[in-house]
Amino acid sequence: MRYEGKLFRPPSEADAYILQATIGCSHNLCLYCAMYRDKTFRVRPLEDNLADLREAGRRLGGRVEKVFVADGDALIMEMDDWRAILSVAREAFPRLRRVSCYAMARNVLGKSDAELAELAELGLTLLYLGPESGDPETLRRIVKGGTFEEHVEAAERAHAAGMALSVIALLGAGGTARSEAHAEGTARLVTAMDPEFFSALTLTVIPGTPMARMQEKGLFELPDMAGLLRELRCVVAEARPTDALFRTNHASNYLPIGGRLPRDRGAILEVIDAALEGRIPLRPEWARGL
Ligand code: SF4
Repeated sequence: MRYEGKLFRPPSEADAYILQATIGCSHNLCLYCAMYRDKTFRVRPLEDNLADLREAGRRLGGRVEKVFVADGDALIMEMDDWRAILSVAREAFPRLRRVSCYAMARNVLGKSDAELAELAELGLTLLYLGPESGDPETLRRIVKGGTFEEHVEAAERAHAAGMALSVIALLGAGGTARSEAHAEGTARLVTAMDPEFFSALTLTVIPGTPMARMQEKGLFELPDMAGLLRELRCVVAEARPTDALFRTNHASNYLPIGGRLPRDRGAILEVIDAALEGRIPLRPEWARGL
C-alpha cells in the first residue's frame, strides 16, 4: 500500500480502506483549500492501483467493507480505470459493501448517464460532493469551479444513476460580507440537491492559502463563533431535504451535532439555540482540527 503525501477522507470513511488512485485535485484552486497544494494532479498507473488493492486484499481482505478512493476528485478517472478498480476491489474484499470518493460537480457532468449507472452498478454507490455554499457569489469568490445549477444537475444525474450523495457545506465560506446570503443559498442548494447525507464543516483560514492572503489584506473576514452558529441555524431551519442524515461531527466544528433532517429539525435547532445562548459548551479552539 503506497501512499503519497497527506491523505484526507470524510469522517464516515474512518473504517474504509483508502486507495489513493489519483494524486491531488484536478481543480486545486479553491481559495481556502490547502489539502493538495503540494501535489500536482495525476492519475496513478492502473497497474499500481490494482497491485495495491490485491495486496490489501491479501492482508485485510475479510475485514474490509468499505473502500474510499482518494484523492480530491477521483471521479475524474477514465471509465477503464474505474471498471478495473471496482472489479478488483470486489475480488479483493469479499465483504465489500460500498465504494465512495470525493467528486466535483464537473466530474459528474463529465460522465454520461450510462457511465454513471455503470459505475453505480459496479459498486461506486456514494459520492461526496462539497459545493460548500449555495450562494452564487460565494461560489464565484471561493473559486469552487461549479455553479449552483451545475451542482443541482450533478446531484440529479448521480441520483438517477443510483448513487447516494453526501453533500458538504462550509460555514464561514462567504465571510462576514456574504454570511446571510451564504447560509440561505446553502439551504436552497441542499434542498435542491436532496442528498442522503449532509454535513457542515467550519472554515479555518490556513496560512499560505489565497484566502489567508485575502484575510491579511482585509478582503476577507471570517464570522465569529456566534456568526458561524447563526449560519448553521439558518441552514438547518431552511433546508428541506427529503430525508438526510445530518452531521457536524467534523473536527473543524464548534458544535458537534447530528440527526435526521427534516425529522429532527426542532431538536437540532434547540441545541444550536442553547449554544448561541451559552447554555452548552462549545468545542474549544485548541481541540478543533481541519
Ligand atoms: S475541489 Fe476540493 S480538493 Fe480541490 S481545491 Fe477545491 S476543496 Fe480542495
